[in-house]
Amino acid sequence: MVTVIRAKRRSRVLTSSGLACLSVLPTINLTAGCLHDCVYCYVRGYRNYPGESRIVLYEDTLERLRQELGRSRTKPHAVYFSPSSDLFQPADEVLDLSHAILAFLFRQGIGVAFLTKGGIPERTIRLLIDHAQLVRAQIGLITLDEEISQVFEPHAASPRTRLAQMRALISGGVPTEARLDPILPTLTDKPVELDRHFAALAQVGVKRAAAGVLFLRSAIRRSLEKNIADREKLASLLGAYRGEEQAVMRGAKIAIQNLTSKRRREIFARLKAAAEAHGIELSVCVCKNADIARGSCYIAGTWARRSSDAVQLALVK
Ligand code: SF4
Repeated sequence: MVTVIRAKRRSRVLTSSGLACLSVLPTINLTAGCLHDCVYCYVRGYRNYPGESRIVLYEDTLERLRQELGRSRTKPHAVYFSPSSDLFQPADEVLDLSHAILAFLFRQGIGVAFLTKGGIPERTIRLLIDHAQLVRAQIGLITLDEEISQVFEPHAASPRTRLAQMRALISGGVPTEARLDPILPTLTDKPVELDRHFAALAQVGVKRAAAGVLFLRSAIRRSLEKNIADREKLASLLGAYRGEEQAVMRGAKIAIQNLTSKRRREIFARLKAAAEAHGIELSVCVCKNADIARGSCYIAGTWARRSSDAVQLALVK
């Protein structure tokens, strides 16, 4: 049973993200909260988090976006849909609005980047394929294990569906990457599982992937303790954070508890080896690993640079 609370936006549609990797594009937030209810989700700690299986849907987003772009002298070349309000949550109201906004942006010639763990409706897959050159898709897939997925991402699409979606998008010409974030230490980081994981990604045509390891904040820890019934799994996961390191998410100034840098280095080394064995290039989420990684995980996609981009971004702020 899900609750969708309809509300009017009080702030602008196009905003700039505090996260360094996302600051390259204006961001759109469609909802507060997310119906996928991932038990590790950082959104649970947000002040406007409406609770499990509840969202606030900003129903006037399309209308307001039209007005904002109408007032702007130039348009952004692309926008990013915030991963904290997945475009493809399991509610018709969200899916319809997402489709309408995507169609509007494509008519304007504006590109879109998004990360999803949801089931993308068939008609939206067709829309994305029809505008493949304007799309940068990331599909989140943290495990192939249906049982782990069911416990940790109870209302997201099944791993099998997400793989099928990647295959459909890639074969339709849409630049699509996989995102393994968060890796759950001791549960999803064993070499044999990673090998299976990257083999399955390679089979559907994935060439690039990005990864991050679970970080904790108090709301996330509470959620894990409440939602993981298998106490052995819970103890094993949280046990990995003994000796945890305090860190700050790059750009956003959010305090997080990270696995020690030694453990993260080991996990990323395993991931890279497994990815390379299947011809997949792997990047690491730098925002959460500024101490051990450089560059970017390209969460907002890569876009041909235009000299006027900086001006355009300034205009939509
Ligand atoms: S899909 Fe993303 S935003 Fe939604 S609950 Fe899962 S982690 Fe949070």
